[in-house]
Amino acid sequence: MSPEIRSRTVELTQCDAPEPGGYIELPDGIVWIRLPIPGALRHINVWLVPARRGWFLVDTGMKTRAVRQAWEDLEKKLPLATELESIVVTHHHPDHFGMASWLSDRHDVSVAMHERSAAAAAAALRDPEEGLRYPSDGFVERLGVELDDDMREIMHGGIYKSIVSGQSPTTTLQADLSVAGRGRAWRVTVHDGHAPGHACLHDDSTRTLISGDQVLPTISSNISLYPSNELGDPLGDYLESLDHLASLPEDTLILPAHGRPFMTLHARIESLRQEHGDRLRQLLQLCADPRTTTDLTAALFRMERLDALNRLLATTETLAHLRRLELLGELQRHGSGTDLRWIAG
Ligand SMILES: [Zn+2]
Repeated sequence: MSPEIRSRTVELTQCDAPEPGGYIELPDGIVWIRLPIPGALRHINVWLVPARRGWFLVDTGMKTRAVRQAWEDLEKKLPLATELESIVVTHHHPDHFGMASWLSDRHDVSVAMHERSAAAAAAALRDPEEGLRYPSDGFVERLGVELDDDMREIMHGGIYKSIVSGQSPTTTLQADLSVAGRGRAWRVTVHDGHAPGHACLHDDSTRTLISGDQVLPTISSNISLYPSNELGDPLGDYLESLDHLASLPEDTLILPAHGRPFMTLHARIESLRQEHGDRLRQLLQLCADPRTTTDLTAALFRMERLDALNRLLATTETLAHLRRLELLGELQRHGSGTDLRWIAG
């Protein structure tokens, strides 16, 4: 990409954002599409990227009537029917993966995602007790959290299945695999912490990163510990991923899944590290006295202002921070079930 096209691309991404259901074509040829999401997020950005001959699509939107309508309208304006070659899904969350199967069937193209991400999607679609739906018992017994009725409903409500169109045959994305663009080669990088096997696409020649949810401009990506990954270290994985991303040049253009494109990667990473560091310090101070998970979550988040989904995410995010401190040897848990307490030392 010439310096002139790069600077025009940067300028445009900073000035204009498409409305949900709309798109704008960037001077470097990438088409920035916005799709609606119910709730506070309101939109997801997905990217139609020039391939050698046609196009590949990065992420697909959640399976809702509004998104289906948006794709049907977009098909009248963009050459999806004749020129879409493949779909790349950054990770299995419904706003990214939701319409993959529907679009794949409709345009007879394959879906590529990392195998850990594909496995997470398959588990969530196959078994109502896995994936995004965990028995609340695991929370109480092993993590000391009593979910309220609405949070329990989310865990048992089959929500994932209802907003994902199914699973098409997938091809596997691996770290360092190259996805051919038009005159550009997109290298796959794989990250954990936010979701298993989250893929980003990086083009070194134009210093552009399609980042999915791994790094976002204003909100921090949710990092969750559930009963299903309770022995893991999602926050540690996420912070390690930030270290890798920090090795990219400062002027890398980030095309994120939510919010606007941005070019302040290093400052953003520093602010995310600080945010998580502050939470870890705060938890450690609070745990000078024995504390329940519920108390600690309420100290970090204004739970009374959150809906059930976000109360659940606040809880699992707090657990990810507590687990990190436990693995660092700075925090211990005593007791189990509703008697479980976290204590510093
Ligand atoms: Zn996500």
